[in-house]
Amino acid sequence: MICYVPAETVSGELRTALTPTTAAALTKLGLTVQAEAGLGTASRYSDDKYTKAGVELVGDPAAALGAADLVLRVRKPSPEQIAALKPGAVHLSFLDPFNESALLENFAEAKASAVSLEMIPRTTLAQKMDALSSQASLGGYAAVMQAAARIRSALPMMMTPAGTIMPCRVFVIGAGVAGLQAIATAKRLGARIEAFDTRPVAEEQVKSLGAKFVKIDLGDTGQTAGGYAKQLTPKQVAKQQAGMAKVCAQSDIVITTAKVFGCKAPILLTEEMIAGMKAGSVIVDLALETGGNVEGAVPGEDVVTANGATILGDTSLENSVATHASQVLAANFAAWITHFWDEETKTLKLDRKDEILQGCLITHDGAIVHERFGKKAEKLKS
Ligand code: NAD
Repeated sequence: MICYVPAETVSGELRTALTPTTAAALTKLGLTVQAEAGLGTASRYSDDKYTKAGVELVGDPAAALGAADLVLRVRKPSPEQIAALKPGAVHLSFLDPFNESALLENFAEAKASAVSLEMIPRTTLAQKMDALSSQASLGGYAAVMQAAARIRSALPMMMTPAGTIMPCRVFVIGAGVAGLQAIATAKRLGARIEAFDTRPVAEEQVKSLGAKFVKIDLGDTGQTAGGYAKQLTPKQVAKQQAGMAKVCAQSDIVITTAKVFGCKAPILLTEEMIAGMKAGSVIVDLALETGGNVEGAVPGEDVVTANGATILGDTSLENSVATHASQVLAANFAAWITHFWDEETKTLKLDRKDEILQGCLITHDGAIVHERFGKKAEKLKS
């Protein structure tokens, strides 16, 4: 069975779906691992290391795509790259399936089995394959590092003969995987941290990291069976914004990570709230790729507001730590393959009754098989 890993083609994407370590593990399973030459250069994995791990470096991506039984990729492919796939090939990548119905149709037409990393269930058994978590963790870390580099102040309290420097105040909105990592990182750097999340269970987790939980009574917020936040009503959002405005005004760094799975991210920082923030303050919006939490944020561009706050425009902060982001992402891919690997036949065995597969398999055998997207696609067609 041939596993092919092309180099990423999306601008600014530095991560890779294969590292020399995972390449060695996949080769050991019995896969023939092929990769596009240079695929790990941007994330600091040299061709030489891949070759030593048993990878065949190939020069013609279109031919390699057409011959592969399994393709690994970080970002969603283009329609042309999907059309080049061999019928029956398995394709693993982030797919953004809630917003990419046409791409899902393309996969079905190509008779490929598309697996969406976003849809891997967040269960204990699937933890090793959880790419959303592995990347969110590094995103949360990188958000603090990027903010610290821009703030022009020190983060920890410092007692010097020339006077005391007060600790930087950081406000983290959304205390899921990324938010908790941001809190832990800011804490290590000595900042004073406050945080808020709509899920009641987050309060204890925030406190256990040494941050203060901001109390805002929004009434019933709850969480889904999968552990995700529910969408708030417009009234609840307004109440939350009012409750957070004062904290934002006192903060030097605000990091927003608030997402609602499968939906556009809610706007939590309005222009009015930002106008009340200190000159020189820094805002990092980790939800920018899914619509953003911050009014006035521009993807790909830093914005300095009239009152001197900077809103960062980076939509993929994990790319600033691409070496480690690739290390854990590639490990997620390898864990998925190992789970579905059949030792006897030395091939992938896609058991459609498997709970993990049911969650993340989007197309198979010429059709959209995931019920969440199949119905949507039908509606779009009619
Ligand atoms: P996410 O990226 O979808 O959202 C990030 C955070 O934003 C969440 O904590 C969410 O509650 C919060 N949020 C949403 N709307 C908000 C609002 N209006 N104001 C403030 N915060 C808001 O979520 P995630 O970080 O990927 O994970 C969410 C949950 O799933 C967490 O509890 C996490 O521990 C859990 N999880 C479980 C597993 C597992 O069991 N294997 C794996 C990963 C995550």
